[in-house]
Amino acid sequence: MNRDLLIVGKKILVAKEKRYLKRLNFSENSNCIIELSLNVPGIPKVGPMWKLVFRLCVKAIEENIPSQLLFSDVNIAGYYAVFNSYISLTETKIRSCLIEEEAEWGRLVDIDCFKDNKKISRKDIGLKERKCMICSNPNSVCIGKHLHSVEELRKKAEVICKNLKWR
Ligand SMILES: [Zn+2]
Repeated sequence: MNRDLLIVGKKILVAKEKRYLKRLNFSENSNCIIELSLNVPGIPKVGPMWKLVFRLCVKAIEENIPSQLLFSDVNIAGYYAVFNSYISLTETKIRSCLIEEEAEWGRLVDIDCFKDNKKISRKDIGLKERKCMICSNPNSVCIGKHLHSVEELRKKAEVICKNLKWR
């Protein structure tokens, strides 16, 4: 890995750490927190294509989960939003997973749900692990074995975005 990539990688980690602290802060006064981030392989994580996916997902959350947008920003780690959900943690997670599964762009978003800073998993609501973007393996298998290169994953993500339109 060259030096520039290492510096960018480090900046992304710092940006994610800042977001983590922000979420902890919001959690104190919220019922249940929804954290939206994008799943963009490689860099850059910012650009019109990814922004569109982000906007589509924010809209899907607003339409399907009774909630309020608390915070949204974009930095070197990509697009990010935090919502306060007015329904139960379980119901919030079920609806979040439906959004992730329904549209093809859903594969490019991560919607995490927390209550009292504790994250609920897909397993907790009886769902299987998410599948790999490229093959039919569970995601962790491909990540663990490095079955696909970042370039390959990014190309696939770009294909998914290619025909998207703002509705
Ligand atoms: Zn795979």
